[in-house]
Amino acid sequence: MAAVKKCAHEMCKCVVGEKEKYCSTFCEDAKGTQTLTCDCGHAACEADKL
Ligand SMILES: [Zn+2]
Ligand SMILES: [Zn+2]
Repeated sequence: MAAVKKCAHEMCKCVVGEKEKYCSTFCEDAKGTQTLTCDCGHAACEADKL
């Protein structure tokens, strides 16, 4: 079973590829910012906001 790598953004639930660190530029830009939700727009994060 391959380990699933998560986006490096603390609040992001997206899964990224082996060589990726962030799922989107949003998460990359947010790395220095404290946020309670992820606004990357991907389904996994949008569902969590409801
Ligand atoms: Zn996200
Ligand atoms: Zn992300």
